[in-house]
Amino acid sequence: MKKTFYTTENKGVTLVKSGLLEAEQSVRHCFTTRLGGVSTGYRASTNLGFGRGEERGVVLRNFELVCEAAGLNFSRLTRSYQRHGVNVTEVTEENVGSGFFEPAFADTDALITRLENTPLVVHIADCAPVLLYDRVKRACAAVHAGWRGMAAGVIEAAINAMEASYGTDPADLVAAVGPCIGPCCFEVDEDVADVFRSDFGEGVLIPAKDGAKTRVDLPKCAVEALTGRGVPENGIDVSGDCTRCDGDRFYSHRRMGENRGTQAAIIQISGR
Ligand SMILES: [Zn+2]
Repeated sequence: MKKTFYTTENKGVTLVKSGLLEAEQSVRHCFTTRLGGVSTGYRASTNLGFGRGEERGVVLRNFELVCEAAGLNFSRLTRSYQRHGVNVTEVTEENVGSGFFEPAFADTDALITRLENTPLVVHIADCAPVLLYDRVKRACAAVHAGWRGMAAGVIEAAINAMEASYGTDPADLVAAVGPCIGPCCFEVDEDVADVFRSDFGEGVLIPAKDGAKTRVDLPKCAVEALTGRGVPENGIDVSGDCTRCDGDRFYSHRRMGENRGTQAAIIQISGR
C-alpha cells in the first residue's frame, strides 16, 4: 500500500491527488476540497452537490472551476444518483452527461467507462471515494463506498463489471482511496460493527473503550476489498486525510449534518 497523496493548487482551486494515479500518462483525476469555488455560507466554497439546496448554476460553476484546475472535460461530465448500494453503470456514448446535461442514472454507486475525455464523478461527504484505472485496457471507474456500500461489496462489484465489460485483470489496476472519514472519527453502533466484523474481520475495528463507541477503519476496508479482489498492494494508494477532522479542507456529514456542501472524486481517461 502506498501513501503518495498530495495537495495541489491550480487557478485558485485546491485539489487532492494520488501521486500513484497521477504518474499514469493516460488518466486525469482529482479529489476536491472546499477551497476555490464560488459557494458561500456553510457551503463555502466548492459545493459539488446538486441536492444541497444550492442554485444549480452555482454548483455547475464550481464544477467548471474544478475541471479547469484539473484539466478535465466539463462538457462530458457524468454522474449518478447514489444510493449506498452495489449497482454499477457503464458509461457509453449513449449516456454521457448523466446528471449534468441529461437526467441522472438512478441508484448507481459506481460508474465505469473506457470512453476518452469523459469524466466520471462520485459525490462524497465522509464516505470513501475509490478511483480505479486499468493501465492495460485503458478503462476507469469511480466508486462511492460508504459503510453500507463497502459492506455490500461495491468495490468488488465495480471490478467485476470492469472484468466483464473490458476484460480487466485486477493485477493491472491502479486504485486511489481518497479522503473520507478516518479511523479517528468513524464511530459506529455495535450492529454496524458486527457487519464489518463478519465482512472484514477484527482488523478493521478499533475496539470500544472508556465509553466511546467502536470505530471502523473505512480506508482499510477499501484496501482489503481491493486486495481481496486481486489488486496488488503496490497498486493501491491511500489518502489518510479525514474529512471529519479537517474542516478547513473538507465537508463532513458527521461534523456538519445537513448544513454542508459535498465533495467529488473525478477520473477521466485522456486522449492519446
Ligand atoms: Zn478524524
